[in-house]
Amino acid sequence: MKLILMGPPGSGKGTQAKRICERFDIPHLSTGDILRAEVKAGTPLGLSVEATMKAGGLVSDDIISSIVVSRVRSPEAQNGFVLDGFPRTIAQALVLEQALGFDALTAVIELVVPEEELYDRICRRAAESAGVQRADDNAQTLRLRLKAYRAETLSVSDFYRPRSPFFMIDGLAAPDEVTDRILQILQDDAVEQT
Ligand code: AMP
Repeated sequence: MKLILMGPPGSGKGTQAKRICERFDIPHLSTGDILRAEVKAGTPLGLSVEATMKAGGLVSDDIISSIVVSRVRSPEAQNGFVLDGFPRTIAQALVLEQALGFDALTAVIELVVPEEELYDRICRRAAESAGVQRADDNAQTLRLRLKAYRAETLSVSDFYRPRSPFFMIDGLAAPDEVTDRILQILQDDAVEQT
């Protein structure tokens, strides 16, 4: 099971990725979580990406791609993985394709959520996470994260559409419904065989 979950910030990728990983007992590779852990630990990598993340920009393709390539090739990922937050650019998608080989992905699933709803969700997430709020969870930074999403990441869907089993799901549905829809897709014969 080699799955990519795509979607803008606040679309519910993280929640869904965790559920799918538990179900299939495979690692959840969230590049945002990996980078936040580096920032928290004060590593050289963390220090080098902290300002970019706080401002809602994208970390360089080279840095993030080398992290992901080593994770997808690690023994923990031998039965598969769910990628959440990667690839965010075509350059990253090409590196992944080179690392895994053409045709390796089970599916690419995009959660579609309108922008107004994303602002509501991010503001709610910030209000509910008192004390442990993400440095980039606020309306001002979300504007920049969405700008990066529109400029760089939307085209990644176009990259995958002709290459991999590609699906779009209504991310406005209740989280349980979204999970059911993802599981349906993954149980579909055509997808199962890849
Ligand atoms: P996320 O938790 O996925 O929203 O990621 C939080 C932040 O980490 C992003 O706003 C970027 O600054 C950085 N980041 C995470 N994944 C990537 C990626 N694939 N490419 C570039 N920057 C990334």
